Amino acid sequence: MKLYCPDYYNSFKCIADKCRHSCCIGWEIDIDDNTREFYRTVEGPLGERLKKGICDGEDGAHFILGEHERCPFLNKEGLCDLIIGLGEDKLCQICTDHPRFRSFYQDRTEIGLGLCCEEAARIILTRDEKTNIIRLIDDGDLDTFLIEEIDLIKWRQQLISIVQDRTMPVDDRLDDMLAFAEAELPEKTPSEWADILRPLERLDPEWDKRLDALSCCGLKKLPFPMDSEWQTPMEQLAVYFLYRHIPGALEDGDFEGRAAFAALSVRIIGALLCLSPSPSMPELIETARLYSSEIEYSDDNTYALLDELAQ
Ligand code: SF4
Repeated sequence: MKLYCPDYYNSFKCIADKCRHSCCIGWEIDIDDNTREFYRTVEGPLGERLKKGICDGEDGAHFILGEHERCPFLNKEGLCDLIIGLGEDKLCQICTDHPRFRSFYQDRTEIGLGLCCEEAARIILTRDEKTNIIRLIDDGDLDTFLIEEIDLIKWRQQLISIVQDRTMPVDDRLDDMLAFAEAELPEKTPSEWADILRPLERLDPEWDKRLDALSCCGLKKLPFPMDSEWQTPMEQLAVYFLYRHIPGALEDGDFEGRAAFAALSVRIIGALLCLSPSPSMPELIETARLYSSEIEYSDDNTYALLDELAQ
């Protein structure tokens, strides 16, 4: 098996108590069977807390969230009592993995850092160098790809190369990428895009404020940040969405729609940055994090947008 990742992957380290939007708040956390079994064996005060803090349902076990939807093991200092009491290697699979995502091929796995984590978003968006996809682990065996997998990986790399062509503004690169993918974005006003996004499943009231800004924008098309300081962050966003979402076409066959989804995601985040009263890198990181947790971390919302793009 071969494991691939973007070349910034190993820079990530969870910032724990310094995180303003901890993934231990607001998300239901499922516990895999092996970890659940181990937690049953823990004794003493932590064992008692585990008994009270876990619900075993028909679909498996999960932590019972407390006030403000906090994981019951996230302490007041913003640290995890399970890591403190048992060690990092005793976390359930989801807690160990987050914010990593994976795409699976026959003989290759791709791993990445999800933009819904503010530290991952900071790493991705503040990087100057072009992002490369590198091989992290190689079992040494001959590659045994399916032909459609080879085609998809090559095609995605062509899309990535187009959005990384720094001789042009990213605005034009996104259009060129769409043309190469034989995809297009429907012509809609910011307010019409807000009407499409508003009925989707939502998590954070902050997202409503961003949608309000889109609704109030009287322009005919989504504004895009054209200043030189935003060119590289917008490129990194485009590479992120292409790397993460194009592999899904192996399952649903929606190559054009996924290229359009990547472009739309960059354009919506870019528009929200333009409409912000104080556009800055922290604001971009926060907007990208919000978009990611509201849209791409919800399969329903992602597919709703893919359906919209298919019309
Ligand atoms: S969101 Fe990211 S940085 Fe924050 S607690 Fe979770 S993994 Fe750590």
